[in-house]
Amino acid sequence: MFSKFISEAQQAGISRERLLENVELAPLTTFNIGGCADLFFEAQTAPELAAAVMAARLGGSDWFVLGRGANILVADRGFRGVVIHNRASAIRVNRQASTLTAESGAICYPDVIEAAVSAGLSGLEHYVGIPSTIGGALWQNLHFLSPPPARERTVFLEEVLTSADLLTEEGELKTVGCDYFKFGYDYSILHDRDDIVLSATFRLEPGDEPRMREIMAANLEWRRDRHPPLDTEPSVGSIFKKIEGIGAGRLIDQCGLKGSRIGGIEITHRHANIMINRGGGTASNVREMIQMVQDVVKRETGHALVPEILFVGEF
Ligand SMILES: Cc1cc2nc3c(=O)[nH]c(=O)nc-3n(C[C@H](O)[C@H](O)[C@H](O)COP(=O)(O)OP(=O)(O)OC[C@H]3O[C@@H](n4cnc5c(N)ncnc54)[C@H](O)[C@@H]3O)c2cc1C
Repeated sequence: MFSKFISEAQQAGISRERLLENVELAPLTTFNIGGCADLFFEAQTAPELAAAVMAARLGGSDWFVLGRGANILVADRGFRGVVIHNRASAIRVNRQASTLTAESGAICYPDVIEAAVSAGLSGLEHYVGIPSTIGGALWQNLHFLSPPPARERTVFLEEVLTSADLLTEEGELKTVGCDYFKFGYDYSILHDRDDIVLSATFRLEPGDEPRMREIMAANLEWRRDRHPPLDTEPSVGSIFKKIEGIGAGRLIDQCGLKGSRIGGIEITHRHANIMINRGGGTASNVREMIQMVQDVVKRETGHALVPEILFVGEF
């Protein structure tokens, strides 16, 4: 079934031993949910990532690039194709130019943020504690609240992105500027095009390290107070898209749905827009819970909730 992909991958220099069969995806997601990938490859560098994606395209296999697995729900039956796990994680800081370039599999926190802050460069510290690779962060235009005490607005990753190297949908290797991504709230062009981010460059500002560390500590505390800890209460963060001026979580809370449970999945008491895996939770449980919440909120408030997470695999 995958012979064409395997032969293309081998021609691109990827050995057969590195193409693994029936790999469980649950441990590679923050929800700890999901079945197996038929075929699985771990890309260690940006050229390997590009080669694997090209091989999958030429081989005619379904494929999926997996980052930190923090914004996806993988089906219980898994993925019938090739999952390319992006572990390309080189990071380069240029202090003189105040820039940081990271391969797209680099983990935002601690790896990328620590590299910036310890070099005295400011602009990425807001995103401390958010599970994400750089590729996933561009896909979703990572965002958080501006620093305390004001916290007057939302800051977005697009504000510091200058350029990115892509493997485009058409198979070209290309450097693009920030505008290319048409960023919005929880949106980039990557939702609508099969471009793959290989690396990204950020223009940062020389900053005061103690002040940056203060912001990081405050943001981590904010998260600890409001979000379930991933190690004991696995989740994918917010399930539903924000409703401007109202808040999806507030509507769910108003309907008295905190604490609702289906199988191993529970709406946490800490935050009504977050579901946690209490152990043994399945993707079907999550889908059922999403449907139930949508039905109740629509009936009680008239608002239609839309999931912000991506559903991956055979549902
Ligand atoms: C506890 C918790 C808290 C969170 N808090 C926040 C928050 O405060 N702010 C916020 O913005 N988000 C938050 N999130 C959501 C999540 O962290 C982000 O959406 C994150 O950017 C997802 O990145 P990822 O690497 O996990 O992507 P994945 O979930 O692995 O993938 C998501 C999508 O990105 C695509 N993708 C991944 N890499 C690439 C690439 N190199 N090129 C092209 N496409 C790619 C994938 O194919 C997939 O379509 C939170 C999640 C959790 C679990």
